[in-house]
Amino acid sequence: MNANRDRTAWLQGGQAHCQVGPQRQDRPHRLVLLGAPGVGKGTQAELLGERLGTCHLSTGDVFRAAKSLAEGERSPGLEAALEYMRKGELVPDSTVLELVRERVRCLRCPGGFLLDGFPRTVAQAEALEQLLAGERVALEAVLSYDLPLDEIVDRLSGRRTCGTCKAVWHVTARPPRVSGVCDHCAGQLYQREDDRPESIRVRMAAYTSSTAPLTEFYQRKNLLRTVPAHGSPEDIFQRTLAVLAV
Ligand code: AMP
Repeated sequence: MNANRDRTAWLQGGQAHCQVGPQRQDRPHRLVLLGAPGVGKGTQAELLGERLGTCHLSTGDVFRAAKSLAEGERSPGLEAALEYMRKGELVPDSTVLELVRERVRCLRCPGGFLLDGFPRTVAQAEALEQLLAGERVALEAVLSYDLPLDEIVDRLSGRRTCGTCKAVWHVTARPPRVSGVCDHCAGQLYQREDDRPESIRVRMAAYTSSTAPLTEFYQRKNLLRTVPAHGSPEDIFQRTLAVLAV
């Protein structure tokens, strides 16, 4: 677990409270990270979180956290969502939005937020806009990470995730000090089911048809900041900081 933030309120929803929240900030960063699966958004969100003291909020992490619940503890909607996820398909907007609404206090958190994997459709982006307006907070920027498809597939197949704190590693590009073990919390690393080749193809198709139009949506609102996503995580991080001027 990251020592500065634990994200319990986001991962568990409901009445759950974070033991260690993000640092209160004078001007909290409220960012959306966009980009195809495997482009490195999760890693950048984590690096940004460490630098800015802001929580990395991923809807994919919420679904993965739900997987470890006992079957009886999952609602029918969540059960169905996990089936979409296994196949690499997008979970229906209504389910995703219900889950985000349950966690709306994370959006008004004085530490700000780094949204990763949400919104993923224009309907979700419109709903987010309304939610934020209701909380009287505004997005600072939308970072859009760009990378050619063949490099993306390579990144996805080498990706490994920590089963405990959800930190993301890569077998060659960002290896942990000990193979298969998380540097942050010593948790076991695993390969996500949806990082298998057949799921990767479905996820890329879903991205092209549903998520790519979001760049235009945010461009029109003058929030889009494009970040070339080639090179090492550190290179991409330096570009991210330059774009944000932090
Ligand atoms: P991610 O970790 O962001 O790549 O998400 C993993 C999977 O969770 C996706 O392939 C979808 O099945 C599901 N998922 C996560 N976030 C969303 C979302 N905002 N809308 C629809 N499905 C989502």
